[in-house]
Amino acid sequence: MQVDLLIVGQGLCGSWLSYEAQRAGLSVCVLDTQRPNSPSRISAGIINPITGRRQVEVWLSDELLAHAKSAYSSMSETLNRPLIRQTTLIDFFPSDQMCKSFQDRIAQNGKFVSLAQETQITMLPFDQPHGAGIINPVFLIDLPAFLEGNQKKLIDTGSLLEEQVEATQLRIEPDGVRYKDIRAERIVFCEGTAGLSAHFFPNLPFAPNKGEVLILDIPGLQRDHLYKHGLMLAPLSDGTWWAGSSYQWSFNHPHPTPAFREEMERTLKSWLTLPFQVIDHRAGVRPATLERRPFVGFHPQLPRIGILNGMGTKGCSLAPFFARELIRHWFLEEPIHPEASIERFSIAR
Ligand SMILES: Cc1cc2nc3c(=O)[nH]c(=O)nc-3n(C[C@H](O)[C@H](O)[C@H](O)COP(=O)(O)OP(=O)(O)OC[C@H]3O[C@@H](n4cnc5c(N)ncnc54)[C@H](O)[C@@H]3O)c2cc1C
Repeated sequence: MQVDLLIVGQGLCGSWLSYEAQRAGLSVCVLDTQRPNSPSRISAGIINPITGRRQVEVWLSDELLAHAKSAYSSMSETLNRPLIRQTTLIDFFPSDQMCKSFQDRIAQNGKFVSLAQETQITMLPFDQPHGAGIINPVFLIDLPAFLEGNQKKLIDTGSLLEEQVEATQLRIEPDGVRYKDIRAERIVFCEGTAGLSAHFFPNLPFAPNKGEVLILDIPGLQRDHLYKHGLMLAPLSDGTWWAGSSYQWSFNHPHPTPAFREEMERTLKSWLTLPFQVIDHRAGVRPATLERRPFVGFHPQLPRIGILNGMGTKGCSLAPFFARELIRHWFLEEPIHPEASIERFSIAR
């Protein structure tokens, strides 16, 4: 097989890169092991412009939100299924002090944030002694539909192979790269925390972060918002609720733990006044980075080899944005954002 671009991984990064490459007229081949616990397969699909206890705006919030809106809308048309939903997040304050700091944030800059009116929240089935704030807009991506739709589209054109790629089998030739019987002009590693690209991009400052979630059935809970109270409750397209997640920088294994489940159930029972049932418990490791910025670009000495990784907690918005930048960098020689470009590191093999 001869293609323009070989892609390792069909998570958020590989899926968006294959889409952008095909839009630019390139032929692609995607190799993926379809791991069920990859972060793209257990993520809630939330795009929230606000982050942290101090409610700060996320990096590049305006550009990322605008791009995500248009990219997922075009993808919805291509795959003929709805993928993006605009909603609001109701953030219940854990204390009066948090309510006060939210009000201070509104006074300084009310972009994306406002106080919830009593009438908006009193009927909701949550314990709410300290009130709530509203974050608007927030987007919810239907990731199972996005990944399955993309997978099917690639399979239909013979462009997706289930294959565990071994970096040592990759050959760099004068006119391209070769992996077994596949020849390509370039290869891009989109393999999340699998770390295969470390062979070509050693010492990138990854800081993997484990997250656990519960999937719940909560009959009667209104599905038109996301709800937060330390943990996040997000409505999934199959009618269940996503509840999570943990952020663990230090962990011994990537699997679900009884301690997380116990803690989540305890927190939920003290906040949510409706009965719920746990349907599933999942865990995955986010490809986070020390500087909280992605790794995007082609190798300075081996320009046939590229990377799109390090999306951390924000793969839903960063992956489409930087997949597009990488393709435009290749064809139009447009610069990659300096905080994301791997040119910021000295990469020596
Ligand atoms: C609990 C949790 C909740 C999250 N919630 C959100 C959220 O609400 N919003 C948000 O924006 N982000 C969220 N994230 C982060 C987001 O999921 C990640 O940033 C994103 O999924 C990373 O995508 P990726 O394509 O880089 O990696 P991955 O999803 O890991 O995809 C990599 C793919 O490459 C394949 N692969 C790896 N090695 C090989 C190999 N050698 N050969 C072949 N195939 C290979 C894997 O099987 C996998 O399919 C969450 C993450 C977690 C863990």
